[in-house]
Amino acid sequence: MSAAESLEAHVRDLAVCERCPSMHRPAIVTKPVQSKVLLVGQAPGSREPVLGKPFAWTAGKTLFRWMGEATGLDEESFRQRVYIASVCRCYPGRNPKGGDRVPNETERASCRPWLEAEMRLLQPDLVIPIGKLAISQFMPVGKLVDVVGVTYSNVEWQGFKFDLLPLPHPSGASTWHRMEPGKLLTIQALDLLSAHPAILGLK
Ligand code: SF4
Repeated sequence: MSAAESLEAHVRDLAVCERCPSMHRPAIVTKPVQSKVLLVGQAPGSREPVLGKPFAWTAGKTLFRWMGEATGLDEESFRQRVYIASVCRCYPGRNPKGGDRVPNETERASCRPWLEAEMRLLQPDLVIPIGKLAISQFMPVGKLVDVVGVTYSNVEWQGFKFDLLPLPHPSGASTWHRMEPGKLLTIQALDLLSAHPAILGLK
């Protein structure tokens, strides 16, 4: 099986995963893009299952605006060149206290093998975790202010090595990236992203 066929098979298997009883299936999958850039979100929201792709709604609008500024690529071109994963691939449902439920540790652990498989299949040079939950899969995070605006070179994770460039979550519910110091740190991170060789290689 070629690398492209293996990735297509992986995405097909992922799309029908039923490991987590409390998650709202189906899993939201990306295009099987053989990319050296891997973007990792948190989990889909309620609109993504309807629209059938990750970052399909309001957070996506901000995310793809950021990515457009950093890469010069419009949303569709970015989706065709970057593999989009997430900590959990299914919509977790509503939190009774408001907003969407954050996936619990069991769900995160159940979904992690999909991400590990993607690391094996893609061998990415650059991983872009979006938001605290995604960043915390790769490194300890106290406050976002301590980790955004920096490229972490040659990070080791589960036997893989890559550069890690954390970004805040672009959710409309979050004000972090719209207020200082988050605003400046986000611009700093996007500047670093625009100059990274893996991003330059996308064009
Ligand atoms: S969250 Fe991940 S592990 Fe759980 S059912 Fe969805 S795809 Fe499978």
